[in-house]
Order: sequence, then structure tokens, then C-alpha cells
Amino acid sequence: MKNKSILLSTPHMGEQELEFVKEAFSTNWIAPVGPHINAFEAEFCQEIGSKYAAALSSGTAALHLALRLVGVEPGDEVFCSTLTFIASASPINYLGAKPVFIDSDRDSWNMNPDLLRDTLKQRAKINKLPKAVILVHLYGQAADLDPIVSLCNEYDIPLIEDAAEALGASYKGKSPGTFGKLGIFSFNGNKIITTSGGGMLISDDQKLIEKARFLATQARDAAAHYQHSEIGYNYRLSNILAGIGRGQLRVLQQRVEARRRNFEIYQQALAHLPGLEFMPEAHYGTHTRWLTCFTVDPNLAKVDQETIRLHLAAQNIESRPVWKPLHLQPVFSKCEVIGGKVAEDLFHRGLCLPSGSNLSVTDLKKVIVEIEKIYCQN
Ligand SMILES: *Cc1c(COP(=O)(O)O)cnc(C)c1O
Repeated sequence: MKNKSILLSTPHMGEQELEFVKEAFSTNWIAPVGPHINAFEAEFCQEIGSKYAAALSSGTAALHLALRLVGVEPGDEVFCSTLTFIASASPINYLGAKPVFIDSDRDSWNMNPDLLRDTLKQRAKINKLPKAVILVHLYGQAADLDPIVSLCNEYDIPLIEDAAEALGASYKGKSPGTFGKLGIFSFNGNKIITTSGGGMLISDDQKLIEKARFLATQARDAAAHYQHSEIGYNYRLSNILAGIGRGQLRVLQQRVEARRRNFEIYQQALAHLPGLEFMPEAHYGTHTRWLTCFTVDPNLAKVDQETIRLHLAAQNIESRPVWKPLHLQPVFSKCEVIGGKVAEDLFHRGLCLPSGSNLSVTDLKKVIVEIEKIYCQN
């Protein structure tokens, strides 16, 4: 008999999502406008401590709008973390601008503030500062925000935080995403909470969020006859999906706790294995462990992360390599990268384990047993 598959990160609905969806149906708000959208935005702001939010069709759409709102134009350069999912950077290309990728540090796996400092200093001298910085908070952990925020302020560069993977995390008691000029979140199916697809753009600047809503709904001027003075997008979230989001938001803290518990169980069982090192939790905040990730040193482990991945796959257990750094992606092969060796090393040795909040202890034990097995065979 084929084993039930254990997947990386799957949707986990709570009790109320369906009620909100039914409400959307019974009131016939089946549109990218309606009361759930407004309520979702307000409740989201309350949850993470932001002033304003625009609910959108995806995290990628939110980043696209963020870049547009800070005035990124063709030919501009935008700094971006290199160790991340492609969606952190593709909107730079949508606008005809060029990404410059920045390496990670080992403490957080996120953008290295020292590299950013050195690079901005050099760029200031030759009058070639970037138009924006996109800072990613990877796998549920905030980057080291204080130095990065102060550098962006010093050089007057708008900071856009890609917190798609870090909803529920904290940096010195505050939510990542709320430190920059704009922040984005994702509610894709694999994220810590999901609306099946969706995103949020947040800011403490009311004008920016109003402009985002305007651009997200085809940039209609105030006229009955559909007049347009700017090109916009169709990026608003559906009222039905916003209903799912409202239900999911109510269980966010439970989802964080469940993912952190997964990590604890993995760590207690596996941390002693030679050469196996879990992604560190930086001293300044709470890591949600959206995904539990580790690196393997093949010299000590006598096995590499790809062998582990293939062994798990043969048992119907899904694990994934750490993100391939964007500077190694064929599509960005001509882009500049500052450093890059840390991200490359994390990619070459890293693996993400099944981490969903709906995994049972039995599921986790199965994963653990299989990892121990492959370690013993080698
Ligand atoms: C998921 C993700 C995105 C994109 O979000 P979508 O809602 O899928 O468009 C952006 N950045 C990172 C780091 C992500 O993990």
C-alpha cells in the first residue's frame, strides 16, 4: 500500500472561514469589492500593527505596486536579497528596472547589513544609489531590520519589506513588514495562512495605500464614464477570498505555535546528527518556522541534502532544497551580485522539511525516522 504523502506546507482552515464565505454568497458580494475586503484590511492592520493596508490578488502584485509607488522606472536599479523566491524580484523586471542582489548573513539567512552598508557607501560616491531596497524576511524569520532601516534612512532610499513568508514573526516585538515605507504579505496556498491566493500591501502612509487601491482597480479617475489618466492593474482581492482571510487571521497565532512545535520536535530528534545544523533563530525576534530548514555538512554527515531529499521523496515525503539564489537563476545571469557565497552555500547544503501546521506528530516522526535511516545507511 502506498503511504499517505506528507507534504511541505498545505492549507489549514479554521472554523470560521466557511461562515465568512457563506456570508459573501448570501449577501451576493461576489466581487473584488465588498465588506470582507474592508474588514480583512482593518483586522490585518490590527494584527500586525500597521496603519493602512490594501488587500490584493497576490503578494507579487503587492510588490509590483510597492515598486511603482516609490517611483521605480525603466533603467533604475533596485537592491534585493538574493536568497529568496523569484517573486521577490520579478516585479523589478516588470517595471523595466534592474535588480542588484545582496548576499545573506549566517545568523538570519537574510540580507547582510554590513554588505548593504559597504555597497551603499561605494554607490553614494559614484552617485549611483538604487531607487529602492527590497528586503526579504525568509522562511518566517525577520532580517536584521535596525541597521538596514537606518541605512535606508541615511541614504534616503525607500525600503520595501517582502514579508510574504514572515507573517506572525517579530523583530524586537514588532511585526516585520511594518518597518519600511511599504511592506507586503502573501496568502498563497503554501503560506502560514492562506486565502488560496492573495496578498496585502501595508504602509503607515495613507496616501500610498489609497494610491495602491486606485492602481489595483484599473486607475479609474473620478468620473462615471470610465476615464483614465494613468495605466493601472486588476489586482484587487475578491470579497470571497477576503472572507477566507478573515477566518485565517483568527487562527494565525495557533498556526505560528504549531509550526514552531514542528521545529522543536525535529530539532530535539535530529540536532545531534553529525553535520546537521538547523536555521538559527536570531536573538532579536521570533521565528515562525514557516518552514523548518537545515543544512548538512556532507563531510561530517557522510550524506548530502540531495540524498536525503530523494530518500524522503521515495517514502512520499516532500522536502525542498533551500531557495536557489536569484543571482544563480538563468533569467538573472547578467545581473550584479554583491557577495553571494553565503546564499550559494545555504542553497547547496540546505533542505526544507514538511512544516505545515496541520501535520500530526505521527507525520513528523515518520520524517524523523526516515532521516535517521538514511544517516545510518551512510
Ligand atoms: C510567496 C512569496 C512571494 C509571492 O507571493 P504570491 O502571493 O505567491 O504572489 C513573494 N516573496 C516571497 C519571499 C514569497 O515566498
